[in-house]
Amino acid sequence: MRGDFLKVPWRRLVCNNYGAPKWIFILRLVAHGRLYTRDRLDSWGITTTQDCSLCLDGLETLAHLFFHCPYSATIWETLLHWQGIYRISMIWPDEMQWAATHANGKNSTSEVHRMVLAASVYHIWIERNHRIFQHRRRGPDEIIRQIIQEVFHRGQLRGRLAQRLEMLNFYPQLPTLPVQLV
Ligand SMILES: [Zn+2]
Repeated sequence: MRGDFLKVPWRRLVCNNYGAPKWIFILRLVAHGRLYTRDRLDSWGITTTQDCSLCLDGLETLAHLFFHCPYSATIWETLLHWQGIYRISMIWPDEMQWAATHANGKNSTSEVHRMVLAASVYHIWIERNHRIFQHRRRGPDEIIRQIIQEVFHRGQLRGRLAQRLEMLNFYPQLPTLPVQLV
């Protein structure tokens, strides 16, 4: 029992992830709930607004950013569908638990999923920072393309992922969801 208890869901997601080190760094902070989201900063009296900079229509919490926010959900759901996973996005930590249950193996499908999740968390966080600090904004389609390109680049360093990535050698269409893409 103790052994099972110690197998925390984020362990393989973070530790057995071929994503870029900067992706894993952010993923680890998210897994530990230690990202400096606006609700956390506000609790320390640091920030002046708690609004989500991606959708402008929600409180910026960890669960909102990953992936309740319509902007983030569009990115993540599109990338789920791209991998052949037809479901809606879930909020953190349910998404982390899903990966721990369904993408926990050493097969290339699971390994690619863990990389895509790490890349998505990273790029959504970077987009959020660009909007707040540099007033630059990009649409979900641009983020999705960048994630796919970078996952392919990383995957080429791992020969056994090549077959899986060969099946994913296309850009997915954005879903026609009634979400406002800001
Ligand atoms: Zn939002």
